[in-house]
Amino acid sequence: MIVNEKNGLRYYQFESFCEAGITHGFFTRLGGVSPKPFDSLNMATTVGDTAENVLENLKRMFDVFGLDLSSRYDGWQYHCKTVIAADVPRSASVRYPLRADGLMTDRPEVTLVQRFADCCPIIFYDPVGKAVAVCHAGWPGTVDNIGAITLKNMRKLYGTDPKDVLAGIGPSIGPDHFEVKEDVAGKFRQAFGSRYDEICDLSENRIRLNLWKANEILLREQGVQKIEIAEICTVCHKDEWFSHRGDHGKSGRYGMLITLQKVKGIE
Ligand SMILES: [Zn+2]
Repeated sequence: MIVNEKNGLRYYQFESFCEAGITHGFFTRLGGVSPKPFDSLNMATTVGDTAENVLENLKRMFDVFGLDLSSRYDGWQYHCKTVIAADVPRSASVRYPLRADGLMTDRPEVTLVQRFADCCPIIFYDPVGKAVAVCHAGWPGTVDNIGAITLKNMRKLYGTDPKDVLAGIGPSIGPDHFEVKEDVAGKFRQAFGSRYDEICDLSENRIRLNLWKANEILLREQGVQKIEIAEICTVCHKDEWFSHRGDHGKSGRYGMLITLQKVKGIE
């Protein structure tokens, strides 16, 4: 990934999306206003931080690209299978976010926003149907195959063919740190069948799963060929990223955005 800094904020971008001219960024926890344990660029009010702090942090994230915060569309991430097509910014449609773990749009005036702390973000760009999307693949979303559900919705609305699609799997808990118990492992075994071995590490008497690989397998099954994986573990890099596990549940959420809107002067 490419690392950038602006106004004290540090954010990461996928090379493939930059080459395609897609405005996007995964923002580290640096450069915001929130106090501990949300220090400092926390994007979620649901974790105990104030609405004022989160609003200022969101503004700073949008300012990096010169985007207007009023273009935002975000959902209430709920580990559900709902994908919303955002035709207008949320402030112009619904006051409070609707439950959704996938967001997509073909409108440049909409900026999609999601929040993460260990769960896998997956972003999509369809250069033919001219649409972007993002989905929240925690372990439940991975088992439910939220990536495929998002792609199916993109096909329905924008005629998206997965073979054209650029996909990126962003910073999230890595295979070294995602240790699970038998109950979660069983769900993955059922979902992945003969491919379970590819995502599972049973060394040191522990069960560790690879969510990056799991989502890559699921995307390739749909016909996606161009997949970039950040390979940045949020637990290993707590200094840069919020991590639910790494901070024992007391943490903020990092923000990401993606939009078809073109911005000047930004790589
Ligand atoms: Zn790690």
